[in-house]
Amino acid sequence: MKAIFKRISILMLILVINIFFAGASSLANEQNANYKTKINLELEQEKIDKVFQRFVEHIGKNHEKYSINLVESPQINAYASMGKRIVINSALVEFLNNDTALNFVIAHELGHIEEKHVWKGIARQGLSSLLSYYVFKESRVLHGVDRLHSLHYSRSKEKEADLFAVELMNELYCKVPGKLQFFEKMSEQRKSPKLMEYLSTHPLADTRLAYLEAEITKANCLI
Ligand SMILES: [Zn+2]
Repeated sequence: MKAIFKRISILMLILVINIFFAGASSLANEQNANYKTKINLELEQEKIDKVFQRFVEHIGKNHEKYSINLVESPQINAYASMGKRIVINSALVEFLNNDTALNFVIAHELGHIEEKHVWKGIARQGLSSLLSYYVFKESRVLHGVDRLHSLHYSRSKEKEADLFAVELMNELYCKVPGKLQFFEKMSEQRKSPKLMEYLSTHPLADTRLAYLEAEITKANCLI
């Protein structure tokens, strides 16, 4: 009897979690409805695909196992998801307006995948993120409301992803400037509500700028 109650309460919990995420999803879709990106999504997606493929091949991995999706969303954000997938919001591309700066962000997210942070984060944050992934698998990612955008990594994991990214950028784009423009812009506009989502899961730009600049200078590359 006890076992049955336990099972019922687990089922109820799953139901409540899913109703909650369905609500969050429609809220985000409402916000997205008023937003129209100025960038050409198809062209940008092609560009991002090429860069991402280059990164993945450079680290000796099979690019077919990885994917990167550009989604139309007013939040300046990017995140790594399960299944070696990265999501880039269109507002981030608009905000940066610079390929090298965007490439750094892509490299950083790839760092989270390669350092296995995504799975560790899910293990830490529990069942709900895993559940929502399976329940809303494709639609959530395509609507830019993948729950994993709120995965919060520790400062040390963020640093690991940063160091992974800066090494990759130094190797592939050594003499191309603009690598750290994302952080420069972020520290200028840290109060922008569009940045809230990103800032809620990432350490302050200033602290990251210091060690990243040091790594680029050490490699004799351009910041
Ligand atoms: Zn990160």
